[in-house]
Amino acid sequence: MAHLIGQLIFLVLLCTAGFFFTRRIGQIRKNIKLGRDVDRSDRKGERWATMARVAMGQSKMVVRPVAGIMHLVIYAGFILINIEVLEILIDGLFGTHRVFAPYLGEFYDVLIGLFEWLALGVLVACVVFLARRNLLPIARFRSPEMKGWPKNDANIILVVEVLLMFAFLSMNAADGIAQARGLDHYIAAGSFPVSQWLQPLYAGLSDAGVVAVERGAWWFHIVGILSFLVYVPYSKHFHIFLAFPNTWYSDLTPAGQLDNMAAVKKEVDLMMSGDPFAAPAEPAGDTPAEPASFGAKDVQDLTWKQLMEAYSCTECGRCTSVCPANATGKLLSPRKVMMDTRDRVEEVGRAINAAGGDWGQGDGKSLLGDYISEEELWACTSCQACVEACPINISPMGIILDMRRSLIMEDSKAPEPITAMFNNVENNGAPWAFPAADRGKWTDELANES
Ligand code: SF4
Ligand code: SF4
Repeated sequence: MAHLIGQLIFLVLLCTAGFFFTRRIGQIRKNIKLGRDVDRSDRKGERWATMARVAMGQSKMVVRPVAGIMHLVIYAGFILINIEVLEILIDGLFGTHRVFAPYLGEFYDVLIGLFEWLALGVLVACVVFLARRNLLPIARFRSPEMKGWPKNDANIILVVEVLLMFAFLSMNAADGIAQARGLDHYIAAGSFPVSQWLQPLYAGLSDAGVVAVERGAWWFHIVGILSFLVYVPYSKHFHIFLAFPNTWYSDLTPAGQLDNMAAVKKEVDLMMSGDPFAAPAEPAGDTPAEPASFGAKDVQDLTWKQLMEAYSCTECGRCTSVCPANATGKLLSPRKVMMDTRDRVEEVGRAINAAGGDWGQGDGKSLLGDYISEEELWACTSCQACVEACPINISPMGIILDMRRSLIMEDSKAPEPITAMFNNVENNGAPWAFPAADRGKWTDELANES
């Protein structure tokens, strides 16, 4: 009877966690789809290779070897220990115990031993990460945008992972003792190279005490994992899922190549062709459609990929740590750009839900201005260092450039030196205060002298 009640509770917990997880995923999907369309379905082979290299292979993480290797351990632990979680799920639903053991034989012992070493590795890495974040003076963890919730979010997950790994090892330690005592239900299965060190903690307990520790740790472990499942889509740790599609849909154009707006490029081509006053020629083929608005003022003006990037951002700060504008004390932090974008799209998503799906005139706010200031945008040098440094191929620079486009093309707002340069290009066909045709005139004097 007790087993049956346990199975029922487990089923209810599993369904509840599944419900909240899928509901949240549905909302994130809806929010991402608020973005403009962009085609990223080409060059599929290259996309799979990029995802395998960058997301699965963590190729950009290990550029900083200490943090990279520890992250790799946590990543491997997350993937492989899930095999153990699968067994726990089956055991929980059907009232079995170590259900895989009879089928896998000695390989099961090898697997459990491997999981234990991984659990120890994850535990150590999380403790080191906690110390780095909270005790060491590492600048990227102390930026203004990392105060409050972002800091707590990072710490919560690390502490939970430490507790989960400890529960996993305690469960195995008590199981090992129960097996040695030949207790009912505890079949001889698994090897416990790490948890054996915890066995002295529980060896003095009665049989009932050992079972209570094993069951308690089992329930703590699985309830912790189900809670983690519900929590993760609200956290920066959602990157453990989104890193894969985000790298698959990477921008595959060569680094430094900026996207042009076709309708605008046509006008510029005409202007640069020599006669800025020439009548527009009839273009061959399809005429590029003029966009409803230029650049991005709010999240709906960004592409769905840029919104996906906002949800994928791990808030690691590698982009900010290499940003020359940030390094020279400017207000700009590319990490904050991604965090602001995610906060704003969340706000818009909630407002749309509250309005029953009718966004109407909006809420009078926008990403540009209410979240990201002009000062931040104009501090960017378009150097691409943030894009290069991001471990999952996010481009904060893309969002910055789109918002600058909005400032210039929609609001005619730009710092004075840039406005002067625009006027020169328009009037002289060159960024200087002299016509482009005069640029080589100094060579005439040389020719006369010779
Ligand atoms: S592109 Fe802009 S935001 Fe990115 S690193 Fe360079 S200056 Fe900073
Ligand atoms: S954009 Fe990339 S590098 Fe910057 S904080 Fe996010 S994940 Fe890290």
